[in-house]
Amino acid sequence: MRMIRKIVAIFLIFLFPTIAFAKGLTLTVVYNNVPYDKNLTTAWGISILIEGLKKTILFDTGGDGSILLSNMEKLKIEPKNIDIVVLSHIHGDHVGGLWNFLRKNNRVSLYLPKSFPKSFNDRARKICKEVISVKRSIKICDRVWSTGELGTWMKEQSLIIHTPKGLIIVTGCAHPGVVNIVKVAKDMFKKELYLVTGGFHLLAYSENRVKKIIKQLKRLGVKKVAPSHCTGGRPIELFREAWRKNFIELGCGARIKID
Ligand SMILES: [Zn+2]
Ligand SMILES: [Zn+2]
Repeated sequence: MRMIRKIVAIFLIFLFPTIAFAKGLTLTVVYNNVPYDKNLTTAWGISILIEGLKKTILFDTGGDGSILLSNMEKLKIEPKNIDIVVLSHIHGDHVGGLWNFLRKNNRVSLYLPKSFPKSFNDRARKICKEVISVKRSIKICDRVWSTGELGTWMKEQSLIIHTPKGLIIVTGCAHPGVVNIVKVAKDMFKKELYLVTGGFHLLAYSENRVKKIIKQLKRLGVKKVAPSHCTGGRPIELFREAWRKNFIELGCGARIKID
């Protein structure tokens, strides 16, 4: 009986891909310097687990692998269930946790910006099932795209996830500029912008500059925001004031569920 139910479920998902969303898409912050869940360890960096799609994706790995794995354990996340790892950019607070993670699970497809140093690439290729160097925008799996490498002094890729509510954009540090990244995603798919989340890198920005960025994101039609990591305390407050009920708290251990 259970077998028949399973076959029917697989058949339905195959027929109606939107059913894959029945359980909902979940973004879980497994590593972050911004506190939220007191049981977890906070440290500089970010890592976000994306579940509920055909593949389970880990976006960035934080700076310290032992903290990453211990936070995952506390959140009851099994590293072996992750299919894909995407690294946004080469900064240590985003890639540092990778090697410890790969010791737990090297059967992953790893997506790196093409500009990553050869030494990093070679090391990863020796361990991982598959390493994909990303230059231009590519499809990572069903509903998920990379923006491709953006930026000048620091090349960075962000994720674009298609949902029935619109696009979700996940940034690492947003070194190419959060507004630029959002514009690229909007130009690519011409769809509603449901949520922008991750590090926005506004730590050193004046209040006026942050307000200008908020205005630009509003003008682009960003419905919800969940800024964290390197966005900075005061800029996060400004985002909270500007988006009110559409502002989402995104500290370490926070979960965003999209039905
Ligand atoms: Zn960075
Ligand atoms: Zn960072």
